Amino acid sequence: MSQTDYKFRVAIVGCGISGLSVAAFISNFGKDTSQARIAVDIYEAKPEVSTLGAGVAIWKRSWQVLQNLGFEEDIVAKGFKVPKDGESRGPTFRKSDQSAEGYDFHNHMMPYGPLSLHRPTLLEILQSKLSTDCKIYTSKRLVGYSASAGEAITLSFSDGSTATADIIVGADGVHSATRASLFGLLGHGYKQYAAPTFNGTIVFRGMVPKSKMVATFPQHTGLESPKVHVVSHPIGTYVGLNCFHSRPEMEGKPYLGPLVSEAAAQDVCRLFENWEPDLRALIENADSYTAWVIHVVNPLPCYVSGASVLIGDAAHSMTPHQGVGGGQGIEVHYISTVDQLIEAIKDAYLLGRLLSHASTTRADIPAILKLYEALRLPPTQDAWEKSRINGMMYEFNHPDFLFNDPSHTDGPSRDELERLGAAVGLSFMWLAEGNAEEDWAEAEARLNTICGND
Ligand SMILES: Cc1cc2nc3c(=O)[nH]c(=O)nc-3n(C[C@H](O)[C@H](O)[C@H](O)COP(=O)(O)OP(=O)(O)OC[C@H]3O[C@@H](n4cnc5c(N)ncnc54)[C@H](O)[C@@H]3O)c2cc1C
Repeated sequence: MSQTDYKFRVAIVGCGISGLSVAAFISNFGKDTSQARIAVDIYEAKPEVSTLGAGVAIWKRSWQVLQNLGFEEDIVAKGFKVPKDGESRGPTFRKSDQSAEGYDFHNHMMPYGPLSLHRPTLLEILQSKLSTDCKIYTSKRLVGYSASAGEAITLSFSDGSTATADIIVGADGVHSATRASLFGLLGHGYKQYAAPTFNGTIVFRGMVPKSKMVATFPQHTGLESPKVHVVSHPIGTYVGLNCFHSRPEMEGKPYLGPLVSEAAAQDVCRLFENWEPDLRALIENADSYTAWVIHVVNPLPCYVSGASVLIGDAAHSMTPHQGVGGGQGIEVHYISTVDQLIEAIKDAYLLGRLLSHASTTRADIPAILKLYEALRLPPTQDAWEKSRINGMMYEFNHPDFLFNDPSHTDGPSRDELERLGAAVGLSFMWLAEGNAEEDWAEAEARLNTICGND
């Protein structure tokens, strides 16, 4: 099929979860053969489609939208349990930052049972949903794009090549080159939004083989239940581990080292050497560690300019505050109260469904993208703020829980920790709320107005 036979051409920058999801939703909702087709080209900087990190938790609203892609069948075929309505056992918070044995101070019941999935499995399933109109180009690092009203967008890559498209979707993560270009093109007052901000935290991520733990610590509670120290979560034959090391005084300062690197296990162990034995056993048994330097995208004034749009981490990367600042005494289960993937997948779902709607034409694109922005900017920035507030609770900097205060020379009391646990517990409740179909009904009504179908 020639390029001119397509209704329009979409260039997606980044083949992570957001980029693949938007392509999968366009494939799914645009599969009606009576409709004009949409060409989708995905440009990925890496030489292959891959993801760092281990597990992800899929909550109600992201599950509802993934079901549109026939996810349930794939998940069951791969031996995973689908998420279920109703209460399920949630995170356990534990005091560990002392050499003596710690204690659990909050067991939370979740309003909904999420699906825990291995990240590469999620990418693999999404990739299997792409239609033949979607092409993936690897080793294509976007350096910038140019756009003139009424003309195709030109994307430029680090290898000197270029490509054109009618729409550019920036799904290139927290260090997005698309975002830098978009705000660069908007001009002087917008340059501050181009780059992300270091938030002072480095996360050491590792996978602990359960077999190693069984040999040395057979009764370890982390083997079966999603609890224990720092941030841990049993997944398959492993226990995923996220060890947070925060230096609040570094927040907002430039970080000059590599953003993701291998970390020596003994260096991670050293950071937690005074913590309880139960925790150290887990940390010592991880096969290897990857250090992630956490950056966030401070709230942006817009996600769209003309036919350019940002989604996922490129638009609203937030703190992964399902964890805990190193050196603090709180521990929490891996699952976040603010699940960034919910937001990334919901962005992709709405954008994919709007673009592939039968009524959407090339002329409507700027207005349709503005509709996407109107519907997605407020809730994603609300989630960003919730994550920030959770981070303050986890690190004892929240005004209601100032346990780093000099008056707390012996650390927080059990009562104080229980009060904090209850407050964090309440902040999980929104994860069971919402209805993706109702959200779509509102979006479609507004799309019909834009496309003159009323
Ligand atoms: C330590 C840590 C723990 C986390 N834990 C959780 C969790 O438990 N639950 C959760 O929901 N979320 C979690 N997150 C967040 C989650 O990983 C992200 O929200 C999610 O991966 C965002 O997906 P994305 O596709 O938008 O971006 P990314 O996953 O960053 O994908 C971007 C893609 O774009 C590519 N790319 C980058 N630049 C360019 C370029 N210039 N040109 C072309 N391609 C490019 C990259 O190679 C990559 O493939 C965590 C994040 C961190 C750092």
